[in-house]
Amino acid sequence: MSYRVIVALASLLLMSVFAGVALFGARLADGRLAESLESEARRLKTAYELSQGELEQQMMALAGTIAADPETIRLMRAAGEAVAAEGGAAGGARAAAVRAALAAHRQQQWDYLQREVGVRQMQYLLPDLTSFLRFHAPTQFGDSLGELRYLLRNVEELRQVASGFETGRAFAGIRGAAPVLDRLPDGRENLVGLLEIGIAFDGYIQRLSERTAVGFGVLLDPQAVTAAMWENYRPLAPKEQPGACCYLLAASRGELAEWMAASALPEYGGSFRSDLLRHDGHDFQLIRFPLRDYPGRLDPARPAIGSVLIWQDVGSIIASTREFKQRAFQNLLIAYLVTQLLLFFLVSASRREWQNQLAGQTARIAELLHQNEVLLRTAGEGIFGVDREQVVTFINPAAQKMLGYAQDAVIGQRLHALIHLRGPDGQPCEEAACPVALTLGDGQTRTQEEWLRRSDGGIFPVRMTVSPIREGLGYGGAVVVFHDIGELKEKEAALTRLARTDTLTGLNNRGYFLELLGIEISRWQRNGHHVALLMIDLDCFKRVNDTWGHAVGDEVLRHFSEVLRRSLRRVDIAGRLGGEEFAVLLPGDNEVAALAAAERLRQNVANEAASTSAGAITVTISIGVTLFRAGDSSHEQPLRRADQALYRAKQAGRNRVEADFAAELKPGDAAPADR
Ligand code: GH3
Ligand code: MG
Ligand code: MG
Repeated sequence: MSYRVIVALASLLLMSVFAGVALFGARLADGRLAESLESEARRLKTAYELSQGELEQQMMALAGTIAADPETIRLMRAAGEAVAAEGGAAGGARAAAVRAALAAHRQQQWDYLQREVGVRQMQYLLPDLTSFLRFHAPTQFGDSLGELRYLLRNVEELRQVASGFETGRAFAGIRGAAPVLDRLPDGRENLVGLLEIGIAFDGYIQRLSERTAVGFGVLLDPQAVTAAMWENYRPLAPKEQPGACCYLLAASRGELAEWMAASALPEYGGSFRSDLLRHDGHDFQLIRFPLRDYPGRLDPARPAIGSVLIWQDVGSIIASTREFKQRAFQNLLIAYLVTQLLLFFLVSASRREWQNQLAGQTARIAELLHQNEVLLRTAGEGIFGVDREQVVTFINPAAQKMLGYAQDAVIGQRLHALIHLRGPDGQPCEEAACPVALTLGDGQTRTQEEWLRRSDGGIFPVRMTVSPIREGLGYGGAVVVFHDIGELKEKEAALTRLARTDTLTGLNNRGYFLELLGIEISRWQRNGHHVALLMIDLDCFKRVNDTWGHAVGDEVLRHFSEVLRRSLRRVDIAGRLGGEEFAVLLPGDNEVAALAAAERLRQNVANEAASTSAGAITVTISIGVTLFRAGDSSHEQPLRRADQALYRAKQAGRNRVEADFAAELKPGDAAPADR
């Protein structure tokens, strides 16, 4: 993955983390706002309901007080009697007189209640729930409200005060109603009428609005209004407010009417809800909940008849939330930018560091490569490498020179077929058995002598080390380092020869002859074939020295050696034991053959004069002969026997052959004729 991609991914990750935090923060702020608005809404609803409850209590108390007034009781009793006497309903003249008296009796109080308390309705009813007198609609009476008014029915039935919201013929509002009870002389109470007193919403919510600094409004559903109220007494109708859903019963502020006119009110499903409403550049919280009338409160299955609206300007709260979000976003943005910068800085710093390290390592590798190159190029040893398949991958100039191949002719070729390794014994070796193949197989480093083939076909000995090239868990190839040991081998051979050869005669020296004698004894011990040993000493050699000098003596010794060499077979082994004493091993010769060989040698020496710087000199030799025999375990025993035979030859007059055999030679044993 490239550096750019990593940086881009890291930045993207960082960005999404910050974006996530910002989103979460915004959600949290919005959630807080919604929560606080919701609890504010509940609080306001509760405040409204408490206040309405208080108002209902007041209305009940007021109705109860008026209903207990003795003059009122008396007039209502008279009203009931008059209407009953005059045919029910509105009654006649007598009933009208009582109605006028009742109106006069309460007119002053009615004026006061309207003015000071905000009362908008006061009605007297007969026990059968026929309206007898409406202060708020004085011309309307005689109609029955039994069907329409639950509140009144309850008061009539239970003879107790009651209160609640109810829509009537001429008034919709909060009412308190009380029974007008006449105490009979026997102590029982007789219901002579009902008194109802109602307060309109406008004054009440106006006061509430002033206390709480929020707007209140009441909307009535069209059906609830049209089914109950006389047309003249209905509140503002929907058709007069285009787009409005309901009748606007009351509003403490003008905004509600504006929203209705502009159809700006949110959809309302009939339950408690709190919405944000933006209108005319202001943000409002609009709380709305159902308005239940008196029967609706007794029977929850009945539909609500309208709704109560509470609203307040929440522009400042929303603005402060918005401001908080903006500030938080700004801070986050700054934090993001700083972090991003830090990321860039860190990444580019670590990249620089990494690049520096890389450059350092690259330089180091280049240096090592150069050193390797120089080493390979200048090494006196031949070096080449092969891969797993023994194909040559590199070869240094020294190896090229020794093998006689140009680099191009070797690289890519299989090693074995080309250079054809031979084993230490010079025999061709199988490819599978060659050290390179073995090392590739077992990973062992091996050093051994081998023979390599040059391009001209010649072979030469090398000492080579094969080392594996490790690659992972296995071996990816091998390196072969070798040097030509041809010269070394020659020197070694020369030294060996020198160590084994007598310098004067070129024959094996004493040490080496004894070694060969030991080997021959061992071989004889295995094979059991005959081996003869001759011990030879030049006769009266001291005299030669004495007569012609030591140097001439040496010439005579060399001559003798020549004669000896010529007289022997290839398998025979001759050596100078010291001075003018010599010994010869004749493998395969039995007693007869040995004697014949000794005799022929003796004659050859005697017959051939040495031509020296002092002229021709003839010498003779004496020879002691023996064969290896049972009991011989080292060179000592056969040498001693041959020496003793030689001694006897000397004693017997010299220039002769004496033998020491285990058994006497039988007459007729003939010497082989092929010598
Ligand atoms: P005999 O027949 O009993 O063997 O008599 P001989 O004179 O050969 O006696 P002997 O074997 O004891 O003498 C060996 C002589 O050979 C002694 C020494 O001067 C001589 N000699 C030994 N080594 C060399 C040598 O390397 N060069 C020369 N020129 N003479 C040698
Ligand atoms: Mg001698
Ligand atoms: Mg001697």
